[in-house]
Amino acid sequence: MSGKPQTLRHAADLARAGLVDVAQVPDLERVAARYAVAVPPALADLIDRSDPLDPIARQFIPQTEELDQRPEELLDPIGDGAHSPVEGIVHRYPDRVLLKAVHTCPVYCRFCFRREVVGPGGMGSLTANELESALAYIAAHPAIWEVILTGGDPLILSPRRLSEISKRLAAMDHVKVLRLHTRVPVAQPELIDEELLAALKESGKAVYIALHANHAREFSKSARLACARILESGIAMVSQTVLLRGVNDDPDTLATLMRTFVENQIKPYYLHHPDLAPGTSHFRLTIEEGLAIVGALRGRLSGLCQPTYVLDIPGGYGKVPIDSHYVVRRLDGSYKVTDPEGRDHRYPPRRPTR
Ligand SMILES: *Cc1c(COP(=O)(O)O)cnc(C)c1O
Ligand code: SF4
Repeated sequence: MSGKPQTLRHAADLARAGLVDVAQVPDLERVAARYAVAVPPALADLIDRSDPLDPIARQFIPQTEELDQRPEELLDPIGDGAHSPVEGIVHRYPDRVLLKAVHTCPVYCRFCFRREVVGPGGMGSLTANELESALAYIAAHPAIWEVILTGGDPLILSPRRLSEISKRLAAMDHVKVLRLHTRVPVAQPELIDEELLAALKESGKAVYIALHANHAREFSKSARLACARILESGIAMVSQTVLLRGVNDDPDTLATLMRTFVENQIKPYYLHHPDLAPGTSHFRLTIEEGLAIVGALRGRLSGLCQPTYVLDIPGGYGKVPIDSHYVVRRLDGSYKVTDPEGRDHRYPPRRPTR
């Protein structure tokens, strides 16, 4: 065996690495048989083994709570299936599609909203024919302005395969933007190299990378360098975070995370309310709790650091912002506007009376 650290994929591997108790192995093997496990070296290194509440461990180390499935939970929590005209495409909004070329990830998040389809036991990657049909669908729909590569994690595709997709998109004039949702810059930063970035740029589109990170400690030195390489190549970055109990469900932790994004030139984009994915009730908060946490960021943090807190409506009805309570229409046609300190104001203001 070489000494090169490997991704941990079994409960026994996690025990050998000191990340779980040996006594837990049989139970955790049952979890791993249901939902894929992968903890790459870059993330295993970040876990504080002396802290039973470590927010990195909580995101990636399987827990027996995952076997507790609740009646309100859904196998397809955001309704991808309702909008999939061909394999690998989700077309819910007229101007953009998801292209899911691959269903594996460098790490498996325990709260994943696509946990039923990602992983080695999931749907697998698109075959060459399926990818062909998916690309033909995009080519045949001139209203598609943006292609969003997601999955799975598109940045684990080889530069050669990314370059093939890029070249095909380059020939579609109506597609102006290529966006990739990924965890690779924090989970496997060594994959972000010149060859991979060059492959994305072959698309000739405006390229955006949406980085999924949930805690500031995910920004190791190598993760920061990977982000810097992306930005230096001319690709813009935005963020994506899931609000999770025990990981980032307090204003200080979230504030530090949002500032860390901005310090790394990543514009905070979405903060997702956790989806009703199976076996994830231990991560879930109520919307009321979420609003209290997000409300505490308003007024306290730079506007650059403010994400939009969104709910993906179960059933495939799309994402909506959930902080709209700041502005409420009144019966007389005016609006009640709430400021960051919770004080209400009328808009438009009444004329000052003398
Ligand atoms: C989230 C999502 C998108 C992207 O939505 P944005 O608001 O543009 O980030 C597109 N299609 C589907 C099906 C989605 O779930
Ligand atoms: S990286 Fe994304 S798709 Fe993959 S397991 Fe995590 S949340 Fe799910």
